[in-house]
Amino acid sequence: MKKHNFYAGPSILSQYAIDNTIEAIRDFDNMGLSILEISHRSKQFQAVMDKAQALFKELLDIPEGYEVLFLGGGASTQFAMVPYNLLKTKAAYLDTGTWAHKAIKEAKLFGEVNVVASSEQDNYVYYPTKFEVPTDVDYLHITTNNTVYGTELRRDLDVPVRMVADMSSDIFTRPIDVSKYDLIYGGAQKNLAPAGVTFVIVKVDALGKVDRAIPTMLNYETHVKKGSMFNTPPVLPIYTALKTLEWYKELGGVKALQQIDEEKARVLYDAIDNSRMFVGTVNPDSRSIMNVCFVMKPEYKELEQEFIDFAGTKGIMGIKGHRSVGGFRASLYNALPLDSVKVLTAAMKEFENNH
Ligand SMILES: *Cc1c(COP(=O)(O)O)cnc(C)c1O
Repeated sequence: MKKHNFYAGPSILSQYAIDNTIEAIRDFDNMGLSILEISHRSKQFQAVMDKAQALFKELLDIPEGYEVLFLGGGASTQFAMVPYNLLKTKAAYLDTGTWAHKAIKEAKLFGEVNVVASSEQDNYVYYPTKFEVPTDVDYLHITTNNTVYGTELRRDLDVPVRMVADMSSDIFTRPIDVSKYDLIYGGAQKNLAPAGVTFVIVKVDALGKVDRAIPTMLNYETHVKKGSMFNTPPVLPIYTALKTLEWYKELGGVKALQQIDEEKARVLYDAIDNSRMFVGTVNPDSRSIMNVCFVMKPEYKELEQEFIDFAGTKGIMGIKGHRSVGGFRASLYNALPLDSVKVLTAAMKEFENNH
């Protein structure tokens, strides 16, 4: 049976990326060797790294003066690396959910943290947009898409300070004005590659301004200088990332992806809004187009597990909500076809008719 992959991360990849990765594991670049067993310093892999960085810059229209890094450690390591490298005395953070919360915890190890707004008291059902940012902070840290609760900021804020953004789960879903940011990072396992590689877009000028000593591997300058080759980079995930980027370019780039993504989200949110049984959990003006969170209305609450099982019989995978929210979460990452969303909405309708 055809499977429809709604997992939140690691998550669906394009068939193009998977097929090419399989081929590179068998025989990489006609070397007669697997990509798994060759030097990362071979000219063949260096070409992969160079192309991936160049295509990343091209697709996001990244201005001069920025570098794209591919590191290990996940987005969670960035929670500490960002303040380690950029926080001199004080930083502002926006608390929009689980991941933002973790970023704040790490930043407090390095200086004063000013949480400019939080939607925690309302269980993160909206994305706070009304707040003041003090002008004396080193940066404002935001998490553009709240993967767990399903809220998203779909624009670049106008604030009087430089921004740093965790874009783990909504990178490549809209054009970004990168010039407003000193740094953008994310784990690649949501919209780019298998787990194991973390992307960082960094303004080179923003580095080297803190007084503290930074361990070599945690210093962005190390990786800028060495082109993400100071140590062995996550070779295979970087290869898959390159294939995903090629596929994005073929589809028409981020503007085309934005249209496709918005259409997919519209189809699902319409089904939820027109349902007798299901209801969305976040405020409509904060809805994520990547992670759609919904539950059953109180009178049907006990049917939630039954729906997950029913959906499973239709090949629908990974819609169980995060343990901190419950209900359902359907992740609509770039590689998920519109057809899969239609299979889900048809299953919702059928289940509703049966009850
Ligand atoms: C998944 C996720 C993370 C954590 O990523 P890891 O690579 O597992 O450390 C951080 N931030 C956001 C927004 C995420 O969705």
